[in-house]
Amino acid sequence: MGRIHDKNTPTRPAFPGTGPAPTRSATDRKGLLLYIHVPFCRSRCHYCSFHSQVFEQTTFAWYLSLLLKEIELWGRRLQRPALRTIYFGGGTPSMVPLAGLDRIMEALDKAFIVNPGIETTIEANPDSAHDVSYFRGLLNMGFNRLSLGVQSLRDADLQMLGRPHSAGMAHQAFDQARRAGFGNIGLDLIWGLPGQKLKAWLDALKVVSEMRPEHISAYNLTLEDGTVTARRCGPGGDLILPPDQEQGRMFVYGAEFLESVGYLHYEVSNFARMGFMSVHNSGYWNGSDYLGLGPSAVSTLGRRRFTVPRYMDEYDAYVRGELVGNDFEELTDDDLLTELVMLSLRTSRGLDLKEYRKRTGFDLVKKQERLISTLHRENLVRISGGRLRLTKNGMLVSNAIIKQLAFGD
Ligand code: SF4
Repeated sequence: MGRIHDKNTPTRPAFPGTGPAPTRSATDRKGLLLYIHVPFCRSRCHYCSFHSQVFEQTTFAWYLSLLLKEIELWGRRLQRPALRTIYFGGGTPSMVPLAGLDRIMEALDKAFIVNPGIETTIEANPDSAHDVSYFRGLLNMGFNRLSLGVQSLRDADLQMLGRPHSAGMAHQAFDQARRAGFGNIGLDLIWGLPGQKLKAWLDALKVVSEMRPEHISAYNLTLEDGTVTARRCGPGGDLILPPDQEQGRMFVYGAEFLESVGYLHYEVSNFARMGFMSVHNSGYWNGSDYLGLGPSAVSTLGRRRFTVPRYMDEYDAYVRGELVGNDFEELTDDDLLTELVMLSLRTSRGLDLKEYRKRTGFDLVKKQERLISTLHRENLVRISGGRLRLTKNGMLVSNAIIKQLAFGD
């Protein structure tokens, strides 16, 4: 998470440093969501478009010194607010040695109020995090939630995706994390892989559910421009994605299977056992403020959204210039409303129609009566308890429905 689209608005004034202050307190009573971007990986996966580079010691040392400074500056600027959650994402945060993570955690402790037990997540990959002593080290410094990038439990798929680990290593990482004492582990998977059949996906989910992770994220493979996977799936390529109908079945039957074995389907791509929904990600979906640190991280404080420069020399200039030089956009009422519709409809709680009326002055169901009754007839949406929700079939085409509801397209 934290990987919200980059904005490039060079003509706008920089924040912080110039321009008006955020209109809403960055530290609401529940605290701030904090995201730290670690832009290093063992190698580049073939499908990935996230900002990261191959780990290399000198660049890492440069990054670490800047990140520590950035943390200190933000703590001062926001007057040491309380944090609600901490989330290390990437990239591959588990590429960072324990000593480096310890220094970051110490800096966070000084710059922010970090109450004991707040949800503190680290994304880890089985190639860099696989032994019990590493996981014990993470627990000792306060991480209490592990998000493990498994993606597939078939070695042939992992090779095709360019992942630097095998299925066996993923099993080992999970077992060792449990042995170390992690009681909240999420596994990330990708479905809709080239050549994948419904049965293979359901078999994979069965194996994963028998491992009993607290959380499962299941993302549909998206072909990102310029990636190896996109090229291989494109015209003349040697890989073929499953047909749309097969992918539809993978989503619906996969979600039904996970529900049948005790997972709540609480967001389009996310499933959790009772009590283990991600507080951090739920905060994003509820529209809470979040602060993103590290190259390319995005923040939204009040109405203001800004992005840290992504390349190391620009990041250096930004931090050394005391956080001046990044671009920001001022969110309008319409922007906020569109986000409310988009984010809440992706969750199982759905859109609070009363809240919508309060913010817009009109009734969405009346305004979009024809569209909503068509969607209802086609079993794509439901209204209950004052909320508009997508059904599983609706989630499958969520982008199109949200676009129509939010923009009237
Ligand atoms: S490990 Fe994750 S962030 Fe790194 S290249 Fe692979 S998919 Fe991208």
